[in-house]
Amino acid sequence: MRKVRKGDRVKVTSGDDRGKIGKVLQVFPDRERVLVEGVNIVTKHQRPTQTMREPGIIKREAPIHVSNVKVICPECGVPTRLGVAVAEGQKLRKCRQCGATFA
Ligand SMILES: [Zn+2]
Repeated sequence: MRKVRKGDRVKVTSGDDRGKIGKVLQVFPDRERVLVEGVNIVTKHQRPTQTMREPGIIKREAPIHVSNVKVICPECGVPTRLGVAVAEGQKLRKCRQCGATFA
């Protein structure tokens, strides 16, 4: 089961963006990577094309490895590793800090 999901708030724990907090925009389960809003910004030089006449520089997020982020618990606000809890037949994620469970 995936511990990090789209829409989670995460804190980056390593790399150039260590300490940054952002929302998960996309999850790439195959590559174990996540795209986090405002994190790991790369600059792309856009060449002019037929449809886009304006050459320019595009800044956009690039995915980072899921091991480099911690999910911020929606209950206690602490970046934490998540455990798994089962309640009423459903698998939930569990905060190791405060014990709160959430989907
Ligand atoms: Zn918590």
